[in-house]
Amino acid sequence: MSAVTLSELLRSAPTGANSWQHQAAHMAARLCLCCGQPGHYQRMLDEHVRSTGEVPPIYMESGRVSDGNHRALAAIRCLVPVIPLESAEQSGERWLRDHGPVGWLGRHTGDITRSEMSWVFTDALMKLWGDLR
Ligand SMILES: [Zn+2]
Repeated sequence: MSAVTLSELLRSAPTGANSWQHQAAHMAARLCLCCGQPGHYQRMLDEHVRSTGEVPPIYMESGRVSDGNHRALAAIRCLVPVIPLESAEQSGERWLRDHGPVGWLGRHTGDITRSEMSWVFTDALMKLWGDLR
């Protein structure tokens, strides 16, 4: 399995953010799906990486983290020297396993922003509309 070093990861900007510091602030504001607390999902992931020393693989494309920003941030915080990489195909399978068939409404782990919540609300209304027809 291929991998990326911590220093390589630190030199790359995360997708959708200017810096890892910016990304950390973003993750701290995301609402946990298990309890609604801001940043709780990331803190649980940080604790998992800290206690096991292992980071689940991330997917990078063109030198940037494309999937696994929470995992990458946990690796940075816990100073994990080498972070395993997964392929685009493995990343896609992971996404489907974690989020795909159930959609946002069926998820019990992970986190969400307030703007993403408006999409969940829209999905729920569309489903209800479909069920009523
Ligand atoms: Zn929680």
